[in-house]
Amino acid sequence: MNGFLQRRAKTVASLVEKPLDLLVIGGGIVGAGIIRDAAMRGLRAGLVEQHDFASGTSSRSSRLLHGGIRYLAQGRVGLVHEASVEKKIIHEIAPHLADPLPFLFPSYRANKEWVLWQLKIGVKIYDLLCSGKNLGNSSWLNARETLQRVPGLSAEGLTGAVRYFDGFTNDARLVLDTLRSAARNGAILANYCRFVDATRKGDAWECTLVDALAEKRMTIQAKTIVNATGPWADRLPHSRVKLRLAKGVHLVVDRARISVPDTVVMTEGKRILFAIPWGERTILGTTDTDYNGPLDRIFAESADIRYILEITNRFFPTANLPENDVISSWAGVRPLIADPHGSPSDISRSHQIHNPEPGWWDVAGGKLTTYRLMAEETVNQIIHALKHAGLKPEPAPCSTAKEPLLPPAETTGISGILPPEFSQDAVQHFCENEWAAHLDDIMVRRTSWHYYYKDADARARQVAAWMKEFLDWPDDVVAKEIERYHEMTHLTEPRA
Ligand SMILES: Cc1cc2nc3c(=O)[nH]c(=O)nc-3n(C[C@H](O)[C@H](O)[C@H](O)COP(=O)(O)OP(=O)(O)OC[C@H]3O[C@@H](n4cnc5c(N)ncnc54)[C@H](O)[C@@H]3O)c2cc1C
Repeated sequence: MNGFLQRRAKTVASLVEKPLDLLVIGGGIVGAGIIRDAAMRGLRAGLVEQHDFASGTSSRSSRLLHGGIRYLAQGRVGLVHEASVEKKIIHEIAPHLADPLPFLFPSYRANKEWVLWQLKIGVKIYDLLCSGKNLGNSSWLNARETLQRVPGLSAEGLTGAVRYFDGFTNDARLVLDTLRSAARNGAILANYCRFVDATRKGDAWECTLVDALAEKRMTIQAKTIVNATGPWADRLPHSRVKLRLAKGVHLVVDRARISVPDTVVMTEGKRILFAIPWGERTILGTTDTDYNGPLDRIFAESADIRYILEITNRFFPTANLPENDVISSWAGVRPLIADPHGSPSDISRSHQIHNPEPGWWDVAGGKLTTYRLMAEETVNQIIHALKHAGLKPEPAPCSTAKEPLLPPAETTGISGILPPEFSQDAVQHFCENEWAAHLDDIMVRRTSWHYYYKDADARARQVAAWMKEFLDWPDDVVAKEIERYHEMTHLTEPRA
């Protein structure tokens, strides 16, 4: 048995060993935030994730820490304030995963939804909603200054632009580092372990889990359970959540093709899309369409790709991006609280925490940016219930807004907004310290190498060879892992 499987067997043994105070189902950003908070307050807490950590929506976002200037236009001031405060907290506790990101929002005569004078007022209010101090001060530019800053931008009907700040993160790394922080505080974490069902027996739940790596079923006890399964939240037994799923797609292109110094906001009527600078690449997105398909295989369809390229080419007419300029893409679904009315873009991104039966909590909605707050509010409710049932000793107060996620020595060269350097050492670290079990765990979520590199397929073969060494894979596993990587990333035509 390799080192990873030995460590994992110990994890599983400690899940079974004695009852948990809390079982968190779902290893996305919401589950990660909850388990970190619970462990830091001293609860005996475990988390199970059916696939890899962050493999759901939390590795498929726009990677922005934002109050949401769009929500301001919808009058959702409370939501914007809440998220604006949280974006600054993440900047404090995880500076390696929260770069200040300037946005340039051009205004055009033809679009009456985003008029320059309104944008100018909007960005000043936006700054104030960050408790008076945003990650940078907003300003505005006339048409000439706008074109000087972004020379490729369409000049036709341009009236000027506003410039404001939000944060740029790496969604999957934020999940992984939050989990690493939880583990340092005693949390028990298992990826590839699916929650199947739970029965209330006396004061606790008897839960059935399936460990996909060991291919075995097991039973564990937990006093409380949180359903933090994002888009899956209304599919779990005991759940009372009602969701409306909205799909969003992002494309990655060469930065030389869409050269943006700041994130450029592209509009289509009320809708906004972004061109986000990411090292040598530019990320384009996103779409926002109702989704009813399978949750385990979500990919960018041709129509999504054409839509994003069409808007981008309208804003950057000389770029004339064809489909084969797309280096990579990702697609995810937003787990929005159900509202049958309006378009997905109009539905609130606020969150809800419900306790429909004793010992069971559903947490739904929200955003990457507000995960810490969602976690704090959920754990407050759970501690209240546990204390009522006689929890001793007194748990510590919440400290997640102050305590850094990890010391810099544990993130340097490993975790950041840009992919880490392509190296055997990095792969060894992910195998030994970050629960990597499959090739796609490393290529996609721990590093983003899959999205970043044009020769990702060749690099994946190299990573598989390194993983073979660190995880003692038999020869046939390497080929199976490469096949799985292609399937998981929809890489039907291997790149270079
Ligand atoms: C296109 C797009 C762009 C976005 N952009 C932004 C942005 O820029 N900024 C922002 O703040 N927010 C953004 N969001 C929203 C944000 O990404 C989500 O709100 C957030 O990631 C949801 O996290 P989650 O933990 O609830 O869900 P998920 O990340 O999906 O995690 C749920 C997990 O539960 C697991 N699970 C399900 N069933 C079981 C089971 N039975 N047993 C064990 N595990 C199970 C799943 O495998 C999954 O990993 C965006 C969302 C999308 C789709």
